[in-house]
Amino acid sequence: MLAVLRVCAEHGLPLVPFGGGTSVVGGLAPGRPGPFVALDLRRMDGLLDLDPVSRTATLQPGLRGPRAEALLAEHGLTLGHFPQSYEWATIGGFAATRSSGQASAGYGRFDEMVLSLTLATPQGTLDTGRAPRSAAGPDLRQLILGSEGAFGVITSVTVRVRPVPQTRHYEGWHFPDFQEGPPHCAGSPRTGPGRPCCGCPTRPRP
Ligand SMILES: Cc1cc2nc3c(=O)[nH]c(=O)nc-3n(C[C@H](O)[C@H](O)[C@H](O)COP(=O)(O)OP(=O)(O)OC[C@H]3O[C@@H](n4cnc5c(N)ncnc54)[C@H](O)[C@@H]3O)c2cc1C
Repeated sequence: MLAVLRVCAEHGLPLVPFGGGTSVVGGLAPGRPGPFVALDLRRMDGLLDLDPVSRTATLQPGLRGPRAEALLAEHGLTLGHFPQSYEWATIGGFAATRSSGQASAGYGRFDEMVLSLTLATPQGTLDTGRAPRSAAGPDLRQLILGSEGAFGVITSVTVRVRPVPQTRHYEGWHFPDFQEGPPHCAGSPRTGPGRPCCGCPTRPRP
């Protein structure tokens, strides 16, 4: 990885990390005409480390959502990150795009789950460290999260994981028209996940 990055830098070649390819904002485009290198990360798809006591997991960047969940489920754990692109999008892509998903109101956005990252750059590897909490110095995670590959390739991500829930409860709500819906949808985040927003005129569909 470092050798590829160094060669690209020496020859002035753009390098675009490619995770699941679900970007909707042009992040996978090289940004200028001419040759470029697309770095496909799909074979970096392992669970590198798991600490069930601290409930942290270190994942490789090419892991797609379902495989990440399957690997964690073997230990009774879940990441709890389910964007609509879950089937194809990867751990590295989640971090590089500050992804959020359908369970983020409860589990938090992906960037809120990230405890540390490693980044491969043409100058070497940047490791933001493993301390679960730190008040010292700038938070370098914030440089990498949402960077869309601009500063290097995310090569591992350590995330907070949770126990797999014993039950899952999904609700769907319907409103008679578009005017009725938004005020109630705005109320739901205030009351918290799993709790119906006050004054909902309709019952959840079974
Ligand atoms: C149908 C559909 C539904 C979607 N739903 C959601 C949603 O609910 N929530 C949401 O947040 N987004 C959603 N998205 C957008 C997209 O799926 C997310 O941004 C996702 O996180 C991208 O992950 P990916 O692995 O596909 O990344 P890619 O598309 O491969 O790459 C995205 C960007 O990140 C960079 N990148 C990828 N991997 C790395 C890496 N390892 N290191 C450094 N840079 C890297 C790429 O160069 C590119 O700039 C959706 C997209 C589609 C098409």
